[in-house]
Amino acid sequence: MKHPDRFKVSSAWAGFYDYNSFDQNAILGPHPYYENVFFATGFSGHGIQMAPAVGRAMMELLIDKCYVTIDLSRFHLDRVYEEKPLFEQHIV
Ligand SMILES: Cc1cc2nc3c(=O)[nH]c(=O)nc-3n(C[C@H](O)[C@H](O)[C@H](O)COP(=O)(O)OP(=O)(O)OC[C@H]3O[C@@H](n4cnc5c(N)ncnc54)[C@H](O)[C@@H]3O)c2cc1C
Repeated sequence: MKHPDRFKVSSAWAGFYDYNSFDQNAILGPHPYYENVFFATGFSGHGIQMAPAVGRAMMELLIDKCYVTIDLSRFHLDRVYEEKPLFEQHIV
């Protein structure tokens, strides 16, 4: 058996991501005051898996002015003002 002192880290990685400290979930949809500003941020470590749905929903919101095939309104910024966090299990 090898002596523990002989073990070395052979590779490692690190990175930054945007972190929503309120509920670790995405902030999507319209800005409350500026009608030409939309959010798609705050993904906190699970933005890649949400990207296809968010991309489609945001496209609908921008082009059709409403959600057509997928309603993501529960991710709107309102929940922060209303202090209703949207926690999810089994995500980072
Ligand atoms: C190590 C690591 C592992 C991850 N693993 C997973 C995983 O397994 N599954 C998963 O679903 N998600 C994972 N994520 C999270 C995922 O990568 C992010 O949630 C996702 O990339 C966020 O996408 P985004 O477009 O919102 O932001 P970003 O991808 O961060 O894009 C923001 C962009 O804006 C640019 N930018 C910043 N400031 C300015 C400025 N002032 N002007 C112009 N441009 C600017 C940045 O350069 C960047 O290109 C991981 C993240 C990290 C770091």
